[in-house]
Amino acid sequence: MWGLVAAVWFGGISVAWGLFFEHRAAERADAAQAQAFARRLAEVNRLAALGSLPPGPAVERDRLMADVGALAFDRFDEPGRKRARALLAHRLTSLGYAPELQSFPTGINIVGTRPSAPDAVEPRIVLVGAHVDTVEGSPGADDNASGLAVALEMARLFQAPTRHALRIVLFDQEEQGLAGSVAFARSPTRTEGLRAVIVLEMLGATCRTPGCQRFPAGLPAALAPSGGVGDFLAAVANDTDPALLPLFMRAAGPGLPRVFGLPVLDAGAAMPDTRRSDHAPFWDRGLPAILLTDTAELRSDRYHRTTDTLEGIDADFLAGNAQIIANALATLLNEPPPPP
Ligand SMILES: [Zn+2]
Repeated sequence: MWGLVAAVWFGGISVAWGLFFEHRAAERADAAQAQAFARRLAEVNRLAALGSLPPGPAVERDRLMADVGALAFDRFDEPGRKRARALLAHRLTSLGYAPELQSFPTGINIVGTRPSAPDAVEPRIVLVGAHVDTVEGSPGADDNASGLAVALEMARLFQAPTRHALRIVLFDQEEQGLAGSVAFARSPTRTEGLRAVIVLEMLGATCRTPGCQRFPAGLPAALAPSGGVGDFLAAVANDTDPALLPLFMRAAGPGLPRVFGLPVLDAGAAMPDTRRSDHAPFWDRGLPAILLTDTAELRSDRYHRTTDTLEGIDADFLAGNAQIIANALATLLNEPPPPP
């Protein structure tokens, strides 16, 4: 009897100690992660303070809006996605990107490439991606005709050869578990030679009533000011290439939207909201990828609704974001090879 009591007693004590040490270990892990994040953020801010990039080629606002309008129809079922594909492939063909189709079990990606300059030293590939599909019943003007329109504008502005090649990838079935980008990122041949992956996901929505902008769960309080308006471009990048995020922050300037730069560690494991688009499969492969977004789900009541129409697009904001991306691309596409 006493043996049993003693066994239960010591058993209870050791379980309690076990829980105590587990708890302490979790606390230490959290503290280590917070420290790693603070270091990374300080480094990003240091590099971002190096000054504005030289301006890239000028984007055309009216062309962007016309493209959003032309693509703003339900792209959920195959007929809608097929219609969008035809339109997009035709445009990439006319711009010299020779698009090919990548089929996967539930959809079809469009992949077009403008090669690097013939005499380029150590050419690599800069990928600009945006998803084609919508949720059911939504015309998806912001989500994601706005991203598609900017991708087409980048294809047009950077038609002439640069040191690095420009690849435009228009992903299918993003709204269905990122199926298109998963199929693409999984292929070693398709990801070979990638210098950077730039994912455009909703670029035309703003909100201007104080407090209208919300922030994702898990964001450090200092980075999530309350009472804010939604007039900034969010840039979210992993740390495979620590210079990628600061580059896009430096691509903003006078007259352009602010860029809110958020670095993530461990492919966004601690902040799952940061993984909700086509960049995540590239993060999972350890490739440098950045998401550029207006965070519509945190600022717009049109998000994923029938009201996501051209009328909800802030044309100046869209054009400003496109200009930021053009400025960053002008530098990225001509970047010299890293020193040996
Ligand atoms: Zn989307």
